[in-house]
Amino acid sequence: MQLDTVLIKVASRCNINCSYCYVYNQGDTSWQRMPKHMSFEIVEDVIRQLATLYRDQDHPFAVVLHGGEPLLLPRNILEALLKGLADCLPATCSRSIQTNGTLIDDDLLELCVRTGTTLSVSIDGPADVHDTFRIAFNGGGTYARAAAGIARLRQHPRADLLFTGTLCVVDPQSDPCRVYEFFKSLAVPSVDFLFKDGNYAKLPLGKRTVESTEYGRWLAAVWDCYVQDPDPPRIRILDDLGRLLLGGASVKEGCGQTMYGIVVIDTDGTVTKNDTLKSMFDGADRFEKIWSVSTDRLSEIADSREFIQYSHLQNPTSPICRACPLLSVCGGGMPLSRWHPETGLHNPSVYCADYKLLIGHIQETLQEFR
Ligand code: SF4
Repeated sequence: MQLDTVLIKVASRCNINCSYCYVYNQGDTSWQRMPKHMSFEIVEDVIRQLATLYRDQDHPFAVVLHGGEPLLLPRNILEALLKGLADCLPATCSRSIQTNGTLIDDDLLELCVRTGTTLSVSIDGPADVHDTFRIAFNGGGTYARAAAGIARLRQHPRADLLFTGTLCVVDPQSDPCRVYEFFKSLAVPSVDFLFKDGNYAKLPLGKRTVESTEYGRWLAAVWDCYVQDPDPPRIRILDDLGRLLLGGASVKEGCGQTMYGIVVIDTDGTVTKNDTLKSMFDGADRFEKIWSVSTDRLSEIADSREFIQYSHLQNPTSPICRACPLLSVCGGGMPLSRWHPETGLHNPSVYCADYKLLIGHIQETLQEFR
């Protein structure tokens, strides 16, 4: 396996408490046993292993700083990490920070400019939509602080290089066109709409039954705004589905049948699977073998039988998916959404009905254009 994405959990805690969060509020408790943030020593090991990985696989990969909230990492350690990555990796290995935006300040932005690091901010829509789920530990909303962070980012003279986009977790009860217009008003370069995590044991928030299509209808309405807009932001999931329907390829996991090499490094240096698997059951993102950046080469981990088995989880095994005419586009969705406590991942996505509706809707529009 080649690695495409290395997610570095530089902080295992967060300064806000989103009610849908798969890290803290879906049953996994591993974060409690992790150091609160990466140490200088582990940061040195991470830099050394990523330099070695690039030499070993001679293929670029994306490095994403993640959390918790990555900006909780003390600034001197963050600076050592970003400078180290900038020195040892070529520009083709992108470096980015996925943040909730509340801790963005001018010093951080200067550090990002100096080290060629970009920022993506999580924000779910206008204040009332965002503050329904993205709340502080006292229960209050966090919109004002996230919006202030985005404003600071947009005002920076190098905003065109620094600000790559936003990540929005869909609330199907919100007005999709209003949410689309909100992102337009922020002039964001891109929006990555994500469905809420869930499975057959615990349906995603906002989804009434397995057969209901709240999320599919919501995103289909966004698609209608998107195709009518002469100057739209990039919307990754819609671009991917449209490209796949036209015979192209996706750029990220979650649709299509391309297998991506995704690895996570935790705050103690442990190497784990895609952390979204945490939402299935406690410890679902852990390998049986305990690997660490302090002792193990990432290219050797990626070549191991256990890692290859984990990567193959991206391919759905359910006979319903295998026989589905939409398999090449849908790809069975994210593995975590196929989970059932009795049958494991051997099921279609809990979002199957939503995907069928959404893909059918996009297909109709594309046929009209032909
Ligand atoms: S999840 Fe549903 S739409 Fe997607 S491939 Fe499986 S059966 Fe088809």
